[in-house]
Amino acid sequence: MILCSNPREQYVAHREEIDAAIARVCANGRYILGPEVEAFEKEFAAYCGVEHAIGVGSGTEALHIALTAAGIGKGDEVITTAHTAVATAAAIRLAGATPVFVDIDPETYAIDPRLIESRITISTKAIVPVHIYGHPADLDAIGEIADGRGLTLIEDCAQAHGAKHRDRRVGSLGEVAAFSFYPTKNLGAIGDGGMVITNNVDIAGRARLLREYGWAERYVSHVDGWNSRLDELQAAILRVKLKHLDDDNAKRRALAARYNEALHDLPLTLPVARVNVEAVYHLYVVATERRDELQEYLRAHDIGALIHYPVPIHRQPAYADKAISLPVTERAAATVLSLPMYPELTHAEQDMVIAAVRSFE
Ligand SMILES: *Cc1c(COP(=O)(O)O)cnc(C)c1O
Repeated sequence: MILCSNPREQYVAHREEIDAAIARVCANGRYILGPEVEAFEKEFAAYCGVEHAIGVGSGTEALHIALTAAGIGKGDEVITTAHTAVATAAAIRLAGATPVFVDIDPETYAIDPRLIESRITISTKAIVPVHIYGHPADLDAIGEIADGRGLTLIEDCAQAHGAKHRDRRVGSLGEVAAFSFYPTKNLGAIGDGGMVITNNVDIAGRARLLREYGWAERYVSHVDGWNSRLDELQAAILRVKLKHLDDDNAKRRALAARYNEALHDLPLTLPVARVNVEAVYHLYVVATERRDELQEYLRAHDIGALIHYPVPIHRQPAYADKAISLPVTERAAATVLSLPMYPELTHAEQDMVIAAVRSFE
């Protein structure tokens, strides 16, 4: 079976380095918020081109903490999309705010900046664009709206570690940004993890308080915090993988170029890459009206293709809002299919995927 993503292969590729990192932490005796987390925070901040990075428990928590540290809370509205992991909307609710869904651009599947203005109200405080599938949202247009309307720009970078908008890495363009290190992400742990990054020293300070009981010094809470810490084992593993991230993203781009070349003549919508961006292909997503049939056909050929995401958030029971209609989002949910994409996918395996897609009639 060729899987859609395969984090085990990444462990195998860097086994010696990862095993040594794990042994180092076990022998050290510091297991929570110690030297590995501190070093990883510095290395990740430098990689992204920002001043501050705060390691937290997951991507959902990174968004929750970023929003709260930026002053978003009860009574506030936050503009985002419904074509994303439910975590984006869940984090907005965890912060006490209300997600307001705007439709997406049919080519990049990211928020359509032309539709944002009409959803801004007196309660709107922030915009959370998602760099979905590893392709940066239109940060020029979104940044202009945020600046013009006094809204905080918070980037959901969970699928876009290392992606660039012009010559800057995503996460460094908004006021604050959130990353996930879920195992299948471009930079993935062997467990859960997340990171908040920012150039704003006040937001960074509040994020540090929030992740550990509001402690400025041990055992003295200054604000209502909770527990959302990155652990030393995950940080040590992530430090190994960060060294390989640019290589891994280059491999993803090369695989995407091979798919594009091999599938361009088929009646499939292939991913586009806008000028001025460097996408990192967290997923390689094609679209077709016969999506369910194609997925079934590939499964019969031992190829795992997945749907990201089958039910838009505004159609999920916990978020159901019959009043709103997001036609491009709804169409995407009915037509998208993610083909196998991970750095260790071999050309021989990819050729099997290509042959199977090409033989589908
Ligand atoms: C994975 C993901 C998250 C949540 O990350 P977790 O670490 O699973 O909590 C948030 N937003 C997007 C777009 C994601 O893909």
